[in-house]
Amino acid sequence: MTIKKAGKFWRGDNLGDLVTYIQKHQAGGYPVQHAREVTCSRCRQGTFRILVDDEEGCALAICLNCRTETPVADSADHLEEADLGECACPCGGETFSAAVGFAMTAGDEVRWISLGLRCLTDGVLGVYTDWKIDYAPTAHLLTTS
Ligand SMILES: [Zn+2]
Ligand SMILES: [Zn+2]
Repeated sequence: MTIKKAGKFWRGDNLGDLVTYIQKHQAGGYPVQHAREVTCSRCRQGTFRILVDDEEGCALAICLNCRTETPVADSADHLEEADLGECACPCGGETFSAAVGFAMTAGDEVRWISLGLRCLTDGVLGVYTDWKIDYAPTAHLLTTS
């Protein structure tokens, strides 16, 4: 594990480090049981510009390779009302690899989603948005982009 704190920021070398960071972060205060990489719904590549709306609770990943827009988890349901802003790393970088973390209820439904990003410029890690899931069933969230 090469995740380390440099000054104010955590840095990582790869997606595994990002997943570790998401699990440490515990968005909403809940342990994160599952995490997976965000990949482009068209070309399966994994580097993006990322737009989020923290109020509405949704995120859109725009593929650097083919420009396809992939809504993260259930974000497609919220994009219409969303006021999206582009994520930027403290270094000014706006390109990322991304992973979604899932905190589960005792009944194994998704309770909370968090979106972690790793800056492609300097490797700084961050959870840029997180949101609550208040419906069930939620199994589909674990398998779709
Ligand atoms: Zn793509
Ligand atoms: Zn950066």
